[in-house]
Amino acid sequence: MHQPFHFTSIAAYQEQLLNNETSCEAAVQYYCSQIAQWNHLNALVHTFEAEALERARVLDQERKAGKKPGRLHGVVFTIKDVICIAKHPVSAGSCMLKDFISMFDSTAVKKLLDEEAIIIGTNNCDEFAMGSSNENSIYGPVKNQLDEARVPGGSSGGSAVAVQADLCMVSLGSDTGGSVRQPADFCGITGMKPTYGRISRWGLIAYGSSFDQIGILSKHVEDIALVLSVIAGSDAYDSTVSNLPVPDYSHAQPSKKPGEMVIGYFKETLQHEGLDAEIKQQHIQFLSQLQKDGYSVKELTFDLLDYIVPTYYILTTAEASSNLSRYDGVRYGHQHQPLEKELTEFYAANRSSGFGKEVQRRIMLGTFVLSAGYFDAYFTKAQQVRRKLLDQTKLIFNEVDAIVMPVSPTTAFKIGEKNNNPVEMYLADIYTVFANLTGIPAISLPLFEHSNGLPFGLQILTKHFDELSLLRLSSEWMNAYRQRNEK
Ligand code: GLN
Repeated sequence: MHQPFHFTSIAAYQEQLLNNETSCEAAVQYYCSQIAQWNHLNALVHTFEAEALERARVLDQERKAGKKPGRLHGVVFTIKDVICIAKHPVSAGSCMLKDFISMFDSTAVKKLLDEEAIIIGTNNCDEFAMGSSNENSIYGPVKNQLDEARVPGGSSGGSAVAVQADLCMVSLGSDTGGSVRQPADFCGITGMKPTYGRISRWGLIAYGSSFDQIGILSKHVEDIALVLSVIAGSDAYDSTVSNLPVPDYSHAQPSKKPGEMVIGYFKETLQHEGLDAEIKQQHIQFLSQLQKDGYSVKELTFDLLDYIVPTYYILTTAEASSNLSRYDGVRYGHQHQPLEKELTEFYAANRSSGFGKEVQRRIMLGTFVLSAGYFDAYFTKAQQVRRKLLDQTKLIFNEVDAIVMPVSPTTAFKIGEKNNNPVEMYLADIYTVFANLTGIPAISLPLFEHSNGLPFGLQILTKHFDELSLLRLSSEWMNAYRQRNEK
Protein backbone atom coordinates (compact mmCIF):
# COMPACT_ATOMS: atom_id res chain seq x y z
CA MET A 1 0.00 0.00 0.00
CA HIS A 2 1.28 3.46 -0.88
CA GLN A 3 1.48 6.03 1.88
CA PRO A 4 -0.46 9.27 1.28
CA PHE A 5 1.83 11.44 -0.82
CA HIS A 6 4.11 13.73 1.14
CA PHE A 7 6.94 15.67 -0.49
CA THR A 8 10.11 16.40 1.46
CA SER A 9 12.82 16.79 -1.18
CA ILE A 10 13.56 15.67 -4.73
CA ALA A 11 16.21 13.22 -3.55
CA ALA A 12 13.86 11.60 -1.01
CA TYR A 13 11.02 11.46 -3.55
CA GLN A 14 13.19 9.81 -6.18
CA GLU A 15 14.38 7.25 -3.68
CA GLN A 16 10.77 6.45 -2.81
CA LEU A 17 10.04 6.05 -6.50
CA LEU A 18 12.90 3.61 -6.95
CA ASN A 19 11.78 1.65 -3.88
CA ASN A 20 8.28 1.55 -5.25
CA GLU A 21 6.94 3.37 -2.20
CA THR A 22 5.22 6.00 -4.30
CA SER A 23 4.64 6.84 -7.96
CA CYS A 24 4.76 9.87 -10.23
CA GLU A 25 1.03 9.38 -10.71
CA ALA A 26 0.41 9.59 -6.95
CA ALA A 27 2.47 12.78 -6.85
CA VAL A 28 0.52 14.41 -9.67
CA GLN A 29 -2.77 13.32 -8.14
CA TYR A 30 -1.75 14.88 -4.85
CA TYR A 31 -0.86 18.20 -6.53
CA CYS A 32 -4.14 18.17 -8.51
CA SER A 33 -6.06 17.95 -5.25
CA GLN A 34 -3.93 20.68 -3.68
CA ILE A 35 -4.53 22.92 -6.71
CA ALA A 36 -8.30 22.41 -6.37
CA GLN A 37 -8.18 23.13 -2.64
CA TRP A 38 -6.13 26.34 -2.98
CA ASN A 39 -7.62 27.60 -6.21
CA HIS A 40 -8.75 30.85 -4.54
CA LEU A 41 -5.11 31.90 -3.94
CA ASN A 42 -5.02 32.54 -7.70
CA ALA A 43 -1.44 31.30 -8.04
CA LEU A 44 -2.02 29.44 -11.29
CA VAL A 45 -3.24 30.72 -14.63
CA HIS A 46 -3.56 27.42 -16.49
CA THR A 47 -3.33 23.85 -15.27
CA PHE A 48 -2.46 20.88 -17.43
CA GLU A 49 -3.71 18.16 -15.14
CA ALA A 50 -4.75 15.50 -17.65
CA GLU A 51 -1.51 15.94 -19.56
CA ALA A 52 0.55 15.80 -16.34
CA LEU A 53 -1.21 12.60 -15.22
CA GLU A 54 -0.62 11.01 -18.59
CA ARG A 55 3.06 11.90 -18.50
CA ALA A 56 3.33 10.61 -14.91
CA ARG A 57 1.89 7.25 -15.94
CA VAL A 58 4.33 6.95 -18.83
CA LEU A 59 7.25 7.82 -16.53
CA ASP A 60 6.08 5.21 -13.98
CA GLN A 61 5.87 2.56 -16.67
CA GLU A 62 9.29 3.38 -18.10
CA ARG A 63 10.91 3.34 -14.66
CA LYS A 64 9.32 0.02 -13.80
CA ALA A 65 10.48 -1.37 -17.13
CA GLY A 66 14.04 -0.57 -16.05
CA LYS A 67 14.73 2.64 -18.01
CA LYS A 68 17.32 4.81 -16.30
CA PRO A 69 15.43 7.76 -14.79
CA GLY A 70 16.29 11.32 -15.82
CA ARG A 71 17.72 13.70 -13.26
CA LEU A 72 14.34 15.34 -12.70
CA HIS A 73 12.34 12.16 -13.14
CA GLY A 74 8.78 12.86 -12.00
CA VAL A 75 9.55 16.23 -10.42
CA VAL A 76 6.39 18.34 -10.59
CA PHE A 77 6.91 21.95 -11.72
CA THR A 78 4.88 25.07 -12.31
CA ILE A 79 6.24 27.72 -14.68
CA LYS A 80 5.78 31.49 -14.54
CA ASP A 81 3.55 32.84 -17.30
CA VAL A 82 6.52 34.55 -19.01
CA ILE A 83 8.42 31.35 -19.87
CA CYS A 84 7.38 29.60 -23.08
CA ILE A 85 6.19 26.00 -23.18
CA ALA A 86 5.53 24.65 -26.69
CA LYS A 87 1.84 24.35 -27.63
CA HIS A 88 0.75 25.92 -24.34
CA PRO A 89 -0.58 29.38 -23.57
CA VAL A 90 1.84 32.09 -22.38
CA SER A 91 0.51 35.59 -21.76
CA ALA A 92 2.89 37.45 -19.39
CA GLY A 93 -0.19 38.20 -17.27
CA SER A 94 -1.29 40.60 -19.99
CA CYS A 95 -4.36 41.18 -22.13
CA MET A 96 -1.85 41.90 -24.90
CA LEU A 97 -0.93 38.19 -25.13
CA LYS A 98 -4.15 36.65 -23.90
CA ASP A 99 -4.85 33.43 -25.86
CA PHE A 100 -1.30 33.42 -27.33
CA ILE A 101 0.07 29.90 -27.72
CA SER A 102 3.83 29.38 -27.78
CA MET A 103 5.21 27.58 -30.78
CA PHE A 104 8.40 26.47 -29.03
CA ASP A 105 9.89 25.53 -25.67
CA SER A 106 12.12 27.93 -23.86
CA THR A 107 15.56 26.38 -23.38
CA ALA A 108 15.04 26.09 -19.60
CA VAL A 109 11.75 24.23 -20.07
CA LYS A 110 13.24 22.00 -22.74
CA LYS A 111 16.05 21.03 -20.39
CA LEU A 112 13.55 20.26 -17.61
CA LEU A 113 11.46 18.08 -19.90
CA ASP A 114 14.53 16.28 -21.30
CA GLU A 115 15.30 15.23 -17.71
CA GLU A 116 11.73 13.94 -17.26
CA ALA A 117 10.15 16.73 -15.25
CA ILE A 118 6.36 17.09 -15.26
CA ILE A 119 4.79 20.53 -15.78
CA ILE A 120 1.43 20.85 -14.07
CA GLY A 121 0.58 24.50 -14.74
CA THR A 122 1.63 28.08 -15.33
CA ASN A 123 1.88 30.76 -12.66
CA ASN A 124 0.14 34.07 -12.33
CA CYS A 125 2.54 37.05 -12.27
CA ASP A 126 2.67 40.81 -12.64
CA GLU A 127 2.08 41.93 -16.21
CA PHE A 128 5.31 41.51 -18.22
CA ALA A 129 7.00 40.85 -14.83
CA MET A 130 6.67 44.50 -13.81
CA GLY A 131 5.77 44.77 -10.16
CA SER A 132 6.57 43.78 -6.60
CA SER A 133 3.19 42.57 -5.39
CA ASN A 134 1.55 40.49 -8.11
CA GLU A 135 -1.35 42.92 -8.21
CA ASN A 136 -0.71 44.02 -11.83
CA SER A 137 -2.09 40.97 -13.59
CA ILE A 138 -5.12 40.59 -15.84
CA TYR A 139 -5.90 37.47 -13.85
CA GLY A 140 -6.23 39.46 -10.61
CA PRO A 141 -3.98 39.52 -7.54
CA VAL A 142 -2.37 36.44 -6.03
CA LYS A 143 -2.93 35.91 -2.29
CA ASN A 144 -0.29 34.99 0.24
CA GLN A 145 -1.30 31.69 1.87
CA LEU A 146 -0.03 32.81 5.28
CA ASP A 147 -2.44 35.75 5.32
CA GLU A 148 -4.79 35.98 2.39
CA ALA A 149 -5.26 39.73 2.82
CA ARG A 150 -1.56 40.18 2.00
CA VAL A 151 0.41 40.13 -1.24
CA PRO A 152 2.85 37.30 -1.96
CA GLY A 153 5.34 39.75 -3.46
CA GLY A 154 6.08 39.97 -7.16
CA SER A 155 6.44 39.66 -9.91
CA SER A 156 6.78 35.86 -9.53
CA GLY A 157 4.08 35.86 -6.82
CA GLY A 158 2.19 32.94 -8.36
CA SER A 159 5.37 30.85 -8.44
CA ALA A 160 6.13 31.59 -4.79
CA VAL A 161 2.60 30.74 -3.64
CA ALA A 162 2.57 27.57 -5.74
CA VAL A 163 5.61 26.37 -3.77
CA GLN A 164 4.40 27.79 -0.45
CA ALA A 165 0.96 26.15 -0.72
CA ASP A 166 2.34 22.85 -1.97
CA LEU A 167 0.86 23.05 -5.47
CA CYS A 168 4.11 21.79 -7.01
CA MET A 169 7.62 20.76 -5.94
CA VAL A 170 9.57 23.50 -7.70
CA SER A 171 8.68 26.55 -9.76
CA LEU A 172 10.57 28.61 -12.31
CA GLY A 173 10.22 32.40 -12.08
CA SER A 174 12.13 35.32 -13.53
CA ASP A 175 14.16 37.95 -11.71
CA THR A 176 14.87 41.29 -13.36
CA GLY A 177 15.05 43.29 -10.14
CA GLY A 178 14.13 40.86 -7.37
CA SER A 179 11.08 39.05 -8.68
CA VAL A 180 12.22 35.65 -7.47
CA ARG A 181 13.88 36.64 -4.20
CA GLN A 182 11.29 39.10 -2.90
CA PRO A 183 8.25 36.82 -3.29
CA ALA A 184 10.29 34.00 -1.73
CA ASP A 185 11.00 36.37 1.18
CA PHE A 186 7.30 37.26 1.60
CA CYS A 187 6.14 33.64 1.38
CA GLY A 188 8.76 31.96 3.60
CA ILE A 189 10.42 29.86 0.91
CA THR A 190 13.78 29.90 -0.92
CA GLY A 191 14.32 31.75 -4.20
CA MET A 192 17.51 32.03 -6.21
CA LYS A 193 18.60 34.25 -9.09
CA PRO A 194 21.77 32.92 -10.70
CA THR A 195 24.42 35.05 -12.38
CA TYR A 196 23.21 36.94 -15.46
CA GLY A 197 24.08 34.59 -18.34
CA ARG A 198 24.05 31.36 -16.33
CA ILE A 199 20.66 30.23 -17.68
CA SER A 200 19.55 30.82 -21.26
CA ARG A 201 16.87 33.48 -21.73
CA TRP A 202 15.66 31.89 -24.95
CA GLY A 203 11.88 31.69 -24.63
CA LEU A 204 11.69 34.02 -21.63
CA ILE A 205 9.46 36.96 -22.56
CA ALA A 206 11.75 39.98 -22.39
CA TYR A 207 11.32 42.81 -19.89
CA GLY A 208 14.81 44.32 -19.42
CA SER A 209 17.10 42.10 -21.46
CA SER A 210 20.37 43.07 -19.76
CA PHE A 211 18.81 42.28 -16.35
CA ASP A 212 16.37 39.39 -16.93
CA GLN A 213 17.32 36.03 -15.53
CA ILE A 214 15.32 32.87 -14.91
CA GLY A 215 15.28 31.91 -11.23
CA ILE A 216 14.22 28.91 -9.16
CA LEU A 217 11.79 28.78 -6.22
CA SER A 218 11.54 25.84 -3.85
CA LYS A 219 11.42 24.93 -0.17
CA HIS A 220 14.88 23.34 -0.31
CA VAL A 221 18.29 24.69 -1.26
CA GLU A 222 19.34 21.22 -2.43
CA ASP A 223 16.44 21.06 -4.89
CA ILE A 224 17.37 24.47 -6.28
CA ALA A 225 20.93 23.22 -6.74
CA LEU A 226 19.77 20.18 -8.69
CA VAL A 227 17.43 22.17 -10.93
CA LEU A 228 20.15 24.76 -11.59
CA SER A 229 22.57 21.99 -12.63
CA VAL A 230 20.00 20.90 -15.22
CA ILE A 231 18.94 24.24 -16.69
CA ALA A 232 22.21 26.22 -16.59
CA GLY A 233 24.68 26.30 -19.45
CA SER A 234 25.41 27.49 -22.94
CA ASP A 235 22.77 27.76 -25.62
CA ALA A 236 23.12 28.51 -29.31
CA TYR A 237 19.87 30.50 -29.13
CA ASP A 238 21.13 33.04 -26.56
CA SER A 239 24.43 34.77 -27.22
CA THR A 240 24.47 36.36 -23.75
CA VAL A 241 24.54 33.02 -21.98
CA SER A 242 27.91 31.91 -20.64
CA ASN A 243 29.91 29.02 -22.03
CA LEU A 244 31.49 28.29 -18.66
CA PRO A 245 31.13 24.64 -17.66
CA VAL A 246 28.22 23.86 -15.35
CA PRO A 247 29.36 22.23 -12.12
CA ASP A 248 27.13 19.71 -10.38
CA TYR A 249 25.68 22.16 -7.88
CA SER A 250 23.79 19.43 -6.11
CA HIS A 251 26.89 17.59 -4.94
CA ALA A 252 28.41 20.56 -3.25
CA GLN A 253 31.32 19.83 -0.96
CA PRO A 254 31.27 21.66 2.36
CA SER A 255 32.41 25.25 1.97
CA LYS A 256 35.57 26.64 3.50
CA LYS A 257 35.66 26.55 7.29
CA PRO A 258 34.04 29.55 9.04
CA GLY A 259 37.48 30.72 10.15
CA GLU A 260 38.61 30.97 6.53
CA MET A 261 35.65 33.00 5.36
CA VAL A 262 34.92 36.71 5.31
CA ILE A 263 31.27 37.72 5.20
CA GLY A 264 30.65 41.34 4.25
CA TYR A 265 27.71 43.62 4.83
CA PHE A 266 27.03 47.18 3.71
CA LYS A 267 26.47 49.37 6.74
CA GLU A 268 24.16 51.65 4.71
CA THR A 269 21.77 48.76 4.02
CA LEU A 270 21.13 48.33 7.73
CA GLN A 271 20.99 52.06 8.45
CA HIS A 272 18.41 52.74 5.79
CA GLU A 273 15.43 54.64 7.19
CA GLY A 274 12.86 52.55 5.33
CA LEU A 275 14.07 49.30 6.93
CA ASP A 276 11.68 47.75 9.46
CA ALA A 277 13.26 47.93 12.95
CA GLU A 278 12.83 44.26 13.66
CA ILE A 279 14.24 43.10 10.33
CA LYS A 280 17.25 45.29 11.07
CA GLN A 281 17.61 43.89 14.59
CA GLN A 282 17.46 40.28 13.48
CA HIS A 283 20.05 40.91 10.76
CA ILE A 284 22.38 42.51 13.30
CA GLN A 285 21.91 39.53 15.60
CA PHE A 286 22.56 37.17 12.72
CA LEU A 287 25.84 38.93 11.93
CA SER A 288 27.00 38.68 15.52
CA GLN A 289 26.06 35.00 15.57
CA LEU A 290 28.23 34.50 12.48
CA GLN A 291 31.09 36.12 14.35
CA LYS A 292 30.58 33.86 17.35
CA ASP A 293 30.68 30.91 15.00
CA GLY A 294 34.10 31.92 13.75
CA TYR A 295 33.38 33.84 10.54
CA SER A 296 35.09 37.17 10.09
CA VAL A 297 32.40 39.73 9.51
CA LYS A 298 33.44 42.82 7.64
CA GLU A 299 31.59 46.11 7.50
CA LEU A 300 31.70 47.64 4.01
CA THR A 301 30.68 51.06 2.82
CA PHE A 302 28.39 51.45 -0.10
CA ASP A 303 27.84 55.09 -0.90
CA LEU A 304 25.83 54.35 -4.05
CA LEU A 305 22.88 52.82 -2.20
CA ASP A 306 20.55 55.75 -2.84
CA TYR A 307 21.31 55.64 -6.56
CA ILE A 308 20.53 52.04 -7.25
CA VAL A 309 16.73 52.17 -7.41
CA PRO A 310 16.67 55.20 -9.78
CA THR A 311 19.39 53.63 -11.91
CA TYR A 312 17.47 50.38 -12.08
CA TYR A 313 14.21 52.07 -13.05
CA ILE A 314 15.83 54.26 -15.71
CA LEU A 315 17.59 51.37 -17.39
CA THR A 316 14.85 48.77 -17.14
CA THR A 317 12.11 51.11 -18.37
CA ALA A 318 14.35 52.11 -21.28
CA GLU A 319 14.91 48.45 -22.19
CA ALA A 320 11.23 47.63 -21.64
CA SER A 321 10.06 50.43 -23.92
CA SER A 322 12.18 48.95 -26.67
CA ASN A 323 11.32 45.29 -25.95
CA LEU A 324 7.59 45.95 -25.77
CA SER A 325 7.45 47.90 -29.02
CA ARG A 326 6.87 44.63 -30.90
CA TYR A 327 3.38 44.32 -29.37
CA ASP A 328 1.45 46.46 -31.81
CA GLY A 329 -1.46 44.19 -32.63
CA VAL A 330 0.04 43.33 -36.02
CA ARG A 331 3.32 41.56 -35.46
CA TYR A 332 2.21 40.38 -32.03
CA GLY A 333 -0.57 40.87 -29.61
CA HIS A 334 -4.07 42.01 -29.06
CA GLN A 335 -6.04 43.86 -31.72
CA HIS A 336 -8.60 46.24 -30.33
CA GLN A 337 -10.60 46.56 -33.54
CA PRO A 338 -9.88 45.94 -37.22
CA LEU A 339 -7.73 48.48 -39.06
CA GLU A 340 -10.12 51.03 -40.50
CA LYS A 341 -8.55 54.45 -40.40
CA GLU A 342 -5.11 55.72 -39.67
CA LEU A 343 -2.30 53.27 -38.75
CA THR A 344 -0.98 55.25 -35.78
CA GLU A 345 -4.45 55.39 -34.25
CA PHE A 346 -4.80 51.67 -34.82
CA TYR A 347 -1.53 50.93 -32.96
CA ALA A 348 -2.49 53.33 -30.18
CA ALA A 349 -5.86 51.66 -29.70
CA ASN A 350 -4.27 48.19 -29.59
CA ARG A 351 -1.57 49.23 -27.14
CA SER A 352 -3.86 51.30 -24.89
CA SER A 353 -6.33 48.48 -24.51
CA GLY A 354 -3.76 45.64 -24.52
CA PHE A 355 -1.36 46.95 -21.86
CA GLY A 356 -2.29 47.62 -18.23
CA LYS A 357 -1.59 50.85 -16.38
CA GLU A 358 1.78 49.92 -14.86
CA VAL A 359 3.17 48.64 -18.17
CA GLN A 360 2.04 51.81 -19.92
CA ARG A 361 3.71 53.90 -17.20
CA ARG A 362 6.99 52.04 -17.71
CA ILE A 363 6.85 52.34 -21.50
CA MET A 364 6.29 56.09 -21.19
CA LEU A 365 9.07 56.47 -18.63
CA GLY A 366 11.42 54.45 -20.81
CA THR A 367 10.57 56.43 -23.91
CA PHE A 368 11.18 59.63 -21.97
CA VAL A 369 14.64 58.65 -20.67
CA LEU A 370 15.63 57.58 -24.19
CA SER A 371 14.32 60.72 -25.90
CA ALA A 372 16.93 62.85 -27.66
CA GLY A 373 16.88 65.77 -25.22
CA TYR A 374 17.16 63.65 -22.07
CA PHE A 375 19.24 60.67 -23.22
CA ASP A 376 22.51 61.85 -21.67
CA ALA A 377 20.98 63.19 -18.49
CA TYR A 378 19.19 59.93 -17.70
CA PHE A 379 20.18 56.92 -19.78
CA THR A 380 23.91 57.65 -20.17
CA LYS A 381 24.19 58.73 -16.53
CA ALA A 382 22.47 55.56 -15.35
CA GLN A 383 24.80 53.42 -17.49
CA GLN A 384 27.75 55.17 -15.85
CA VAL A 385 26.39 54.42 -12.38
CA ARG A 386 25.88 50.81 -13.41
CA ARG A 387 29.50 50.55 -14.54
CA LYS A 388 30.71 52.12 -11.32
CA LEU A 389 28.68 49.66 -9.31
CA LEU A 390 30.12 46.76 -11.25
CA ASP A 391 33.70 47.99 -10.74
CA GLN A 392 33.14 48.49 -7.00
CA THR A 393 31.50 45.11 -6.67
CA LYS A 394 34.42 43.31 -8.32
CA LEU A 395 36.79 45.00 -5.88
CA ILE A 396 34.62 44.10 -2.90
CA PHE A 397 34.74 40.43 -3.82
CA ASN A 398 38.52 40.56 -3.56
CA GLU A 399 37.96 41.16 0.14
CA VAL A 400 34.92 39.06 1.02
CA ASP A 401 33.54 35.62 0.15
CA ALA A 402 29.91 36.66 0.36
CA ILE A 403 27.73 39.66 1.15
CA VAL A 404 24.58 39.46 3.24
CA MET A 405 21.69 41.91 3.41
CA PRO A 406 17.91 41.93 3.83
CA VAL A 407 15.73 41.02 0.86
CA SER A 408 12.99 43.57 1.41
CA PRO A 409 12.62 46.46 3.88
CA THR A 410 9.29 45.10 5.19
CA THR A 411 7.38 41.86 5.47
CA ALA A 412 4.45 41.15 3.09
CA PHE A 413 2.14 44.17 2.90
CA LYS A 414 -1.63 44.27 2.47
CA ILE A 415 -3.23 43.88 -0.97
CA GLY A 416 -4.00 47.40 -2.19
CA GLU A 417 -1.72 49.10 0.37
CA LYS A 418 0.88 50.45 -2.08
CA ASN A 419 -1.11 50.29 -5.25
CA ASN A 420 -1.58 54.01 -5.64
CA ASN A 421 1.97 54.91 -4.86
CA PRO A 422 4.32 53.56 -7.52
CA VAL A 423 7.36 55.36 -6.13
CA GLU A 424 6.90 53.73 -2.73
CA MET A 425 6.49 50.37 -4.47
CA TYR A 426 9.70 50.96 -6.49
CA LEU A 427 11.68 51.97 -3.40
CA ALA A 428 10.89 48.64 -1.78
CA ASP A 429 13.22 47.04 -4.37
CA ILE A 430 16.23 48.68 -2.72
CA TYR A 431 17.94 45.46 -1.60
CA THR A 432 17.21 43.27 -4.60
CA VAL A 433 18.16 45.39 -7.63
CA PHE A 434 21.87 45.48 -6.71
CA ALA A 435 22.34 41.86 -7.84
CA ASN A 436 20.63 42.57 -11.18
CA LEU A 437 22.51 45.81 -11.85
CA THR A 438 25.80 44.00 -11.32
CA GLY A 439 24.70 40.58 -12.62
CA ILE A 440 25.86 38.62 -9.56
CA PRO A 441 23.98 35.62 -8.15
CA ALA A 442 21.80 35.99 -5.04
CA ILE A 443 19.45 33.92 -2.94
CA SER A 444 16.73 34.57 -0.38
CA LEU A 445 16.71 32.13 2.54
CA PRO A 446 13.66 31.87 4.84
CA LEU A 447 15.57 32.14 8.11
CA PHE A 448 13.59 34.63 10.15
CA GLU A 449 10.17 35.27 11.60
CA HIS A 450 8.82 38.69 12.49
CA SER A 451 6.76 39.30 15.65
CA ASN A 452 3.84 40.03 13.29
CA GLY A 453 3.95 36.31 12.47
CA LEU A 454 5.23 36.75 8.91
CA PRO A 455 8.45 35.27 7.56
CA PHE A 456 11.36 37.18 6.08
CA GLY A 457 14.58 36.13 4.51
CA LEU A 458 18.30 36.62 4.51
CA GLN A 459 19.83 37.56 1.17
CA ILE A 460 23.25 36.15 0.33
CA LEU A 461 25.24 37.35 -2.70
CA THR A 462 28.46 35.99 -4.14
CA LYS A 463 30.70 36.92 -7.04
CA HIS A 464 29.85 36.26 -10.70
CA PHE A 465 29.40 32.56 -11.49
CA ASP A 466 30.08 31.49 -7.92
CA GLU A 467 26.73 29.79 -7.43
CA LEU A 468 28.59 26.87 -5.88
CA SER A 469 29.69 28.91 -2.85
CA LEU A 470 26.28 30.58 -2.68
CA LEU A 471 24.49 27.25 -2.53
CA ARG A 472 26.97 25.66 -0.13
CA LEU A 473 26.69 28.52 2.32
CA SER A 474 22.91 28.55 1.94
CA SER A 475 22.59 24.92 2.72
CA GLU A 476 24.94 25.13 5.72
CA TRP A 477 23.24 28.20 7.14
CA MET A 478 19.76 26.81 6.63
CA ASN A 479 20.74 23.70 8.59
CA ALA A 480 22.66 25.49 11.32
CA TYR A 481 20.50 28.54 11.91
CA ARG A 482 17.09 27.10 11.34
CA GLN A 483 17.81 24.36 13.84
CA ARG A 484 18.99 26.94 16.30
CA ASN A 485 15.83 29.03 15.83
CA GLU A 486 13.67 25.98 16.29
CA LYS A 487 15.24 25.15 19.67
N1 GLN B 1 9.85 44.99 -8.80
C1 GLN B 1 10.78 45.11 -9.86
C2 GLN B 1 10.13 45.76 -11.06
O1 GLN B 1 8.95 45.97 -11.02
C3 GLN B 1 11.35 43.77 -10.21
C4 GLN B 1 10.60 43.02 -11.24
C5 GLN B 1 11.27 41.76 -11.67
O2 GLN B 1 12.28 41.33 -11.13
N2 GLN B 1 10.73 41.18 -12.71
O3 GLN B 1 10.78 46.08 -12.00
